[in-house]
Amino acid sequence: MKIPFNILSRTYKMYQTEYEQKALSVLKSGYYILGSEVDAFEQEFAAYVGTNYAVGVGSGLDALVLTVRALDIKAGDEVIVAANTYIATVMGITINQAMPVFVEPDETHNIDSSRIEEKITPKTKAILVTHLYGQACSMDKILSLCEKYNIKLIEDCAQAHGAMFQNKKAGSSGVGCFSFYPTKNLGCFGDGGAVTTNDKDMAEKLRALRNYGSEKKYHNKVIGCNSRLDELQAGLLRVKLSHLNELINERRQIARVYLEEIKNPQIILPLIADGCSHTFHLFVIRSRKRDKIIQWLEDNGIETAIHYPIPPHLAEGYRHLGHKKGDFAITEKYADEMISLPLFNGMSEDEIRYVVEKVNQCRSIK
Ligand SMILES: *Cc1c(COP(=O)(O)O)cnc(C)c1O
Repeated sequence: MKIPFNILSRTYKMYQTEYEQKALSVLKSGYYILGSEVDAFEQEFAAYVGTNYAVGVGSGLDALVLTVRALDIKAGDEVIVAANTYIATVMGITINQAMPVFVEPDETHNIDSSRIEEKITPKTKAILVTHLYGQACSMDKILSLCEKYNIKLIEDCAQAHGAMFQNKKAGSSGVGCFSFYPTKNLGCFGDGGAVTTNDKDMAEKLRALRNYGSEKKYHNKVIGCNSRLDELQAGLLRVKLSHLNELINERRQIARVYLEEIKNPQIILPLIADGCSHTFHLFVIRSRKRDKIIQWLEDNGIETAIHYPIPPHLAEGYRHLGHKKGDFAITEKYADEMISLPLFNGMSEDEIRYVVEKVNQCRSIK
């Protein structure tokens, strides 16, 4: 059997008629940028996340860059961020000339909240948490630190649409930055992103920044950029958002089979922390035999991925930050041990069983 890491067309086929009707209606409407579909999507998405506002932007990276900018975080400021996040999170900080201050993850792969306080300095302007792989971070300690030191909270929710800590959705505690890149749990058919917030001023700033810095046409208060969610993507996202809960449930069911049936002493399964819900954007296991397991699965037709093999502090592009191998030992160990197994909407029972069977069969790899 051949199992690719992802088959996005399966999700398309589930809702094909709805997608096609929506696409045609947008094409026929004559409105393609900042029209009624974006307005409607912003309202529906804010309601879904549980915030007063959502602002559509061009990508997840732009959501981060514009949020950091709207919070007036700039050169000389520091932002605390998980060392094992996707590099785009860090770029959201450095594109604004601010300094990322890395913190190690804990066993859940999310930022270790017990290691944050020691990194707070008078220059710290924000904590930027990533709800990694679809699991919401444990937020109570983080929120109390933000309050104690009067610093902002930014949430990178690119992998965590619908994930919750206790009863709060990711993106509703701080300023939420979302990506709608096609592979994300709420993905569109191109690039897209959004920022969620309860703060009216923040939403207005973001609406201006995404559109050349103008709230009113041709009145440019600041130098912004062109980063708008388009009508076609917004319309298609509305279709997917209306099915997001069932799509997340399907992912959870596949994850449950993996969690219950993968039994291999060489493999560490994902850990779910108390009060943190997981939407399984990615199903990430760890093993010291990582490379051999990947090879064995590949030989058996199963494609895997690594999220992520090189942590941001060791990326070539960040050499000027002055970090070296060994600076973040947990992050580096995880980067050497992680494997993401195929888990996607529309995966058949046979495909799920086959992955379990092959992962269990490679227990004797030396
Ligand atoms: C995908 C992703 C981003 C970037 O989103 P784009 O839409 O690709 O720009 C940022 N952070 C995390 C954690 C991501 O997974």
